[in-house]
Amino acid sequence: MGLFSRKPKSPAQTVVIPSSGGGGPAAPATTNDAREQRIFAIGSDFLARARGHKTSVLSAKFYSDALMEWSMKDPNFKVQMFRFVDAYPMLKTPDAIYDHLTDYLGQEGVTVPGVIATAIKTGAVAKSMATATIGSQIKGMASKFIAGQDAASALPGLKQLWDDGIASSVDLLGETCVSDEEADSYAAKYLDLINNLPAAMAAWKSQPRLESDHLGAIPRCNVSVKISALSARTDPIDSEGAMRDLMKRLLPILEAARDKGVFVNFDMEHHALKDFTIELFQRCVTQVNFNAGLAMQAYLRSGVDDAKRMCEWAIRNKRKVSVRLVKGAYWDAETIKSELHGWPNPVWAQKWQTDRCFEQMTEVFLDACPRKQGDSGVCLALGSHNARSIAAALAGLEARGLPQSALELQMLHGMADQLKHAAAEMGLRMREYVPVGEMIPGMAYLVRRLLENTSNESWLKAGFMDNADVGALLRSPAPKSGSQPATDLLAINPERHNLSPAPKGVGNGRPFFTEAIRDFSEGAQREKFGQAIARATVPKVANERTPEQAREMVTRASKAFAAWRDTDAVTRANMLVKAAQIMREQRDGLSGVMIREAGKTWREADADVCEAIDFLEYYARCAVPLFQRQRLGKFVGELDEVVYQPRGVAVVISPWNFPLAICCGMTVAALVTGNTVIVKPAEQTPGIASIMCDILWQAGVPKDVLQFCPAPGETTGAALVRDPRVALVAFTGSRDVGLDILHAAAPASPFSSADARSNVPTHIKKVIAELGGKNAMIIDTSADFDEAVIAVRQSAFGFQGQKCSACSRVIVVDEQGPQGPAMTMFSRRLTEAMKALTIGDPLHPGTDIAPVIDAEAATKIRGFIERAKASGLKHVGLELPTSNPFVAANASRFVAPHVFLNVPEDHELAREEIFGPVLAVMHASSFEDALRIANTPTYKLTGGVYSRKPSHIEQAKREFRVGNLYINRGCTGALVARHPFGGFGMSGVGSKAGGADYLLQFVEPRAIAENTMRRGFAPEL
Ligand SMILES: Cc1cc2nc3c(=O)[nH]c(=O)nc-3n(C[C@H](O)[C@H](O)[C@H](O)COP(=O)(O)OP(=O)(O)OC[C@H]3O[C@@H](n4cnc5c(N)ncnc54)[C@H](O)[C@@H]3O)c2cc1C
Repeated sequence: MGLFSRKPKSPAQTVVIPSSGGGGPAAPATTNDAREQRIFAIGSDFLARARGHKTSVLSAKFYSDALMEWSMKDPNFKVQMFRFVDAYPMLKTPDAIYDHLTDYLGQEGVTVPGVIATAIKTGAVAKSMATATIGSQIKGMASKFIAGQDAASALPGLKQLWDDGIASSVDLLGETCVSDEEADSYAAKYLDLINNLPAAMAAWKSQPRLESDHLGAIPRCNVSVKISALSARTDPIDSEGAMRDLMKRLLPILEAARDKGVFVNFDMEHHALKDFTIELFQRCVTQVNFNAGLAMQAYLRSGVDDAKRMCEWAIRNKRKVSVRLVKGAYWDAETIKSELHGWPNPVWAQKWQTDRCFEQMTEVFLDACPRKQGDSGVCLALGSHNARSIAAALAGLEARGLPQSALELQMLHGMADQLKHAAAEMGLRMREYVPVGEMIPGMAYLVRRLLENTSNESWLKAGFMDNADVGALLRSPAPKSGSQPATDLLAINPERHNLSPAPKGVGNGRPFFTEAIRDFSEGAQREKFGQAIARATVPKVANERTPEQAREMVTRASKAFAAWRDTDAVTRANMLVKAAQIMREQRDGLSGVMIREAGKTWREADADVCEAIDFLEYYARCAVPLFQRQRLGKFVGELDEVVYQPRGVAVVISPWNFPLAICCGMTVAALVTGNTVIVKPAEQTPGIASIMCDILWQAGVPKDVLQFCPAPGETTGAALVRDPRVALVAFTGSRDVGLDILHAAAPASPFSSADARSNVPTHIKKVIAELGGKNAMIIDTSADFDEAVIAVRQSAFGFQGQKCSACSRVIVVDEQGPQGPAMTMFSRRLTEAMKALTIGDPLHPGTDIAPVIDAEAATKIRGFIERAKASGLKHVGLELPTSNPFVAANASRFVAPHVFLNVPEDHELAREEIFGPVLAVMHASSFEDALRIANTPTYKLTGGVYSRKPSHIEQAKREFRVGNLYINRGCTGALVARHPFGGFGMSGVGSKAGGADYLLQFVEPRAIAENTMRRGFAPEL
């Protein structure tokens, strides 16, 4: 145990031992003194040895690389440079590289370093030279972190490492797997690795320190797997189904590993996969007796609990497994995602908390370390480059009397080579994590490494670039003295985003914030949801109100209007807030009703309920200020004011595709602005609409103010929109019905007949019409295909394509023509990704494609498919799984998703709204051409662009003329207040549901000017 008894012999000896709390180095003053002193002693020895390693300092070279140096000096340059690096592998020609480079570096606020500026300025002649230079810089950067294109090319490097006293774990780059084809290909590569690496490694010289731990021999060959690469369905919403699909490919890999004596470590990815990965790992270990390891993350707030759970499991099940303890590589992504969803952030907010959690987890694992062969428990491998974290573990090992071979150190290829050599020199078992693979799948990994290395929070940067003093580097994790606790974004979201007014007395008095969708990666939420939808029943509602009954409703609504109009606006608003609360209480049950009545899948149904709640909360807050008189100007002697008044009786005609959200949005917008309302829901979904009315009545809305009119559209609906007493019609639905309503709502011209002249109505009806779409997503040459394929698939086939916002055309830019590489690759990946969709019963969480709304709709959609096939278009369509009893029983309503390729612009698939799971892939020769094609239809609803070229993104913002444009994301899923929704052209009258001006359509403005001057005197003067 030389390591633990050796005193530091470097300049570090002179450094004062830091306190556990803070600012500058000071002697520890707590009972932990002994531990802190030991950590300091070990750490300073480790650091001194590392800093003494002047040779082979790849990491130092890394930090001196020009690109990295500039990146660290200028954050704007760093952002643009890393974005360029991310897009680089997709750029195939010097022109494209040059264009993108100048585009990124030309962004506002970026100071371009002189050398690059000169290279750029030299113009076209030097273009290829400039692109070659930058290309070799990027490849150089990549090669620091990525050891080779495949295992064979990495093998000499692995052997060199071994000879230098460092073991390896080989990782195949690639994270996003969109299809079974890709998953199979990854699985084959892993199998190849496991079958062939051991033989190559067998010839290496013996290295006892690397080949045994305190319990006995350990495998030479160590492979790391990312489970998301092995299945296109790693979605925890259907935990069992996803696990089955994964096991299909994993088990043969693990069996081969068992037979060949290869160690397999499961990497840990995003938080959404954490519980799933742990469960999968435990099942695999139970089924196959292989050398097993799992990465666990300390940046998770659940870290210590996760560690305890893992140890208890190992001991209870008499297993010996390894855990690679890491801090975690997705901190930014987790933080961003949780805020976007309004979810609690799963990761610690401050770096010291991550570091402290790492030490606490270390202690938990060391306590569970098996002492002798045959013992169960957890062997610890430490994946960190932080000498403090490592020293703390070594001190923990020592305190428990465990030998140093009981701990393995692991570090990443291309990082902290000094530390690796120091560790090896100290007799520790050191393993390097060695990624191999192509540039494109490797980009996500590379960018993570670049960000991590240049982060101000990085211990390595502090240790080896900023040369921080040893005391600071080995300080016990604790907040810096005087520092503020991190802000909990979840708690301040409403004020931080300020998405609505916050009128006094309305709800909680705070601005609106989006209702959080369910996080189905959490087992408890899944279970609760599953139980609620199993219990849900759809109320039986007959669509049998007659035109006569509807007219009686208008009479009652007219009578109720004055009192409702004059009700205090805050009282009306609070009824909406109360309704929102009732919906929250019944939330999953409401989803269940929609799943059963409309064929919504789990996420679609949940999002529908959230949107309804959002409309209630948002409109409640937006309505009140409209009814407070607003003063215009500050003229003395004249009081100028504007105020709004309700219009009268409103008829709401709602669609079946968002049977709660849209129905609720239109209804409550009319109610909260003081109009009385008659709701005529779509004939297909009266059940959920009746529940909505019940909730609003329960919340205090009088029965004559809100009336429910389930009825056929052609008769009763037509009568309602034509009734001259109706002041407003709010309609969402098809273009043709919308146009008919607009036409019917117009009063007859007084010039048309004597009758029309003598019967001029008392008012002109207002019609709010939200109609269809023929929405396109453009895939630019620099697009991230991994993301674009998934987003297009979701936008086109989510809820069976039955959304007015759905993507029905995808326009791929390929300068080399319709058979060019981008068209070919995108079409291939998209169609393969489509094959990974599961068709079935929407009550089942794994179902992606449920039946369409009714047999009539199915017949219409099938007509489009058949005509397109007959026109000779190349296509890929799924087969319906008729062996599934639900599919067989509902065959008349099922339509399998279809993608048609190279669809010409004049084809009906490129022009007509289909409202089903049918997607046209079209070719564009340039980005401009793509915009032209995208803008052609008369519908102007949603559009999407996948591009990593800043000027193209800007151009799309200017020229892609749709109501809702989405960039680098799918084109569906608008959120209230964040993405006010609605189109123009033939997509509607330009109103924006869930937007600040939506309510203005439900009211009429009145302006009042009062002369306050009396005989030359005004009070304000
Ligand atoms: C062998 C090996 C295997 C790995 N495998 C995985 C894996 O499977 N899954 C995975 O996720 N990662 C994995 N990693 C990556 C690892 O998480 C990163 O290397 C790690 O981020 C660096 O930690 P460090 O202790 O070296 O550096 P340090 O600089 O001490 O710590 C960096 C850590 O602090 C976190 N951090 C930064 N700012 C904050 C803040 N404000 N609040 C809270 N935390 C903050 C970062 O997210 C990062 O996790 C692996 C690393 C190694 C060495």
